[in-house]
Amino acid sequence: MALINENYLKLPGSYLFAEIARRVAKFKEENPAANIIRLGIGDVTRPLPPAIIESMHKAVDEMADEKTFRGYGPEQGYNFLIQKIIDTDYVSRGISLDTDEVFISDGSKSDVGNIQEIFGLDNIVAITDPVYPVYLDTNVMAGRTGVLDQSGRFGKVTYLVCNAENHFKPALPEKRADLIYLCVPNNPTGTTLTRDELKVWVDYAKANQSIILYDAAYEAYIREDNVPHSIYEIEGAKDVAVEFRSFSKNAGFTGTRCALTVVPKTVMGYTTSGEKCALNKLWNRRQTTKFNGVPYIIQKGAEAVYSAAGQQQIKALVDYYMENARIIREGLASAGLEIFGGVNAPYIWLKTPNNMDSWAFFDKLLTDVHIVGTPGSGFGPSGAGYFRLTAFGSKENTLQAIERIKTKLII
Ligand SMILES: *Cc1c(COP(=O)(O)O)cnc(C)c1O
Repeated sequence: MALINENYLKLPGSYLFAEIARRVAKFKEENPAANIIRLGIGDVTRPLPPAIIESMHKAVDEMADEKTFRGYGPEQGYNFLIQKIIDTDYVSRGISLDTDEVFISDGSKSDVGNIQEIFGLDNIVAITDPVYPVYLDTNVMAGRTGVLDQSGRFGKVTYLVCNAENHFKPALPEKRADLIYLCVPNNPTGTTLTRDELKVWVDYAKANQSIILYDAAYEAYIREDNVPHSIYEIEGAKDVAVEFRSFSKNAGFTGTRCALTVVPKTVMGYTTSGEKCALNKLWNRRQTTKFNGVPYIIQKGAEAVYSAAGQQQIKALVDYYMENARIIREGLASAGLEIFGGVNAPYIWLKTPNNMDSWAFFDKLLTDVHIVGTPGSGFGPSGAGYFRLTAFGSKENTLQAIERIKTKLII
């Protein structure tokens, strides 16, 4: 009898996006003429910049010639890409890294999901609430969380509440946490931590021999000087933090797939008898065993992100979305809504008017103005009473959506 991993049964159904799709489909059926604008998805919509396309075309041709053909590449990624990442994204900010501290992958989703494998099952996991669901769900699958209770929380997980009262800045946990997931700038709230605020977490991790798993997928959207682009800008972070970055949101790679994870050789975990063990060694072993690397063609595309033209083109891409974020922020504020985020992130998080339930507000937005967003409660219990809009649509749609909200939404 083949037994299953029963931890999977502890996961609540992937209710959020299925339920959104169901409600939108029903509305469409009843209102076939409605022009629905989707500001709910966390996916980019602009095409890949030309420098990237050109580089991938060249790489395709190389694969057609026996002199330049490539088979299996290094599981950790090609040095031509790793070196450019280090020089452009890290050295420029005063951070030195060795090439074997950067691992190229097919996505931050995979990496933030897989990283928990190299940690013991008895670790106490802390996540912010609301949260990007991957951190929690992968720990549920591994059996690290206990079971879901009435309040929608897993018994063994430490939830770090982020709400308007604490300005979406999580407080240090009361109970010691071993693995701490932080996402800055944040999805879904669009808010950030300053250097000083992040230092509190680095100091906590050092004092408690904890590890910070730092998701910097939205680093390119940072506009304010006091928000760190990398956790390694904080003194001591190279001893306690793993950083995840992705080409998905800065360069439009959501369908193309390329990301990176930084595991400094100085970050240590411990055996039960207290011996130190470098996480870099474990992650390298995990990746070389289970992962075959990102295609050469894709890594050549990612390399072009770092050419002069590529840098300018991805800046224009991010600027385009950030202009949408500005339009949404200013439009919603003038419509009298209480909003957060959108300054250093492509997400605008809003407090539902009159303490409306997140799903009730979803229905209202869909019915009154034909706009689809994401109910905050889908990201965790503390997301209740909030709602997420994204800046990843086209400018035309974003302008139209805001015009509708300003003129037709009755709140
Ligand atoms: C989009 C996103 C990522 C990037 O995921 P990829 O797998 O690299 O596309 C990572 N973390 C968060 C919070 C995200 O929203």
